[in-house]
Amino acid sequence: MNTKTGVAQWADKSANIQTGCRNGCLYCYAQAMAQRFKRIAGRETWLYPSLNKPGKFPRDSRVMFPTTHDITLDNIHRIVDATGAMLDRGNTILFVTKAGPTPIDLLLYYLDQFPHSRKSIEFRFSITTLNYKTQRFWEPDAPHIIDRIEAMKDANCAGFRVSVSCEPMLFKDEAEILPHFQAMILAGASEVWYGYLKNARARIAQNIQDQWHKDLALDRLLCVITPANVGRLLRHLPLDPRVMLKDSVITAINKTTKRNQYSAKGGPRK
Ligand code: SF4
Repeated sequence: MNTKTGVAQWADKSANIQTGCRNGCLYCYAQAMAQRFKRIAGRETWLYPSLNKPGKFPRDSRVMFPTTHDITLDNIHRIVDATGAMLDRGNTILFVTKAGPTPIDLLLYYLDQFPHSRKSIEFRFSITTLNYKTQRFWEPDAPHIIDRIEAMKDANCAGFRVSVSCEPMLFKDEAEILPHFQAMILAGASEVWYGYLKNARARIAQNIQDQWHKDLALDRLLCVITPANVGRLLRHLPLDPRVMLKDSVITAINKTTKRNQYSAKGGPRK
């Protein structure tokens, strides 16, 4: 039985070269943690990334990179340097990103210098909705969904394995989940991971400072992403091995149904 949770479901270790992210997602876990542990002064600081002190990268691990910033034109050369250093240490890399085609195409160009990069690197694109208005509210300065899908197609065409993270699921109703899955598969995703927004109220309280904006976000917390509704939502997905569930979803469904019947790989356990 796979009992891994959180980042461990995807990778052994995580790595970053910066703290802070211009995408400004209201639900950002990394921002909430940075604020909670006083690594940043507040949201304004988060939106202007600062370079981390150089540190050692892991060795012989699957590394999720980045988790506290994104891949952008501003940091692409440092991203490439870090990628080379991690590959040299025997790692494989899971890029997790909301980037559009411009930085990703440049990254793909530079990755050609590394032998076996296609075997050692996977791209996971964070695509949480197909609804542009929903995206603009929750991920105000992140690249447009269409751009992320284009970037995913480019990485796929360049011969890299690509997959999707839909965590948190930002679906207004159940009808949105199947078109999302189908669109991701059409764009080349080998897996689509579904997760819901954990500790939503606490994260919003931490990440948003002005009361009006905070109230609006709380108001828009979508009913389908609560633990109680998540099982019903997932019933709209096909029984397909490319549907993958985050630990939060598995726990929520198994609690609701009071049966330990769901596993990470889509539907019920055999
Ligand atoms: S892209 Fe990731 S790191 Fe950046 S703000 Fe959004 S959730 Fe946070």
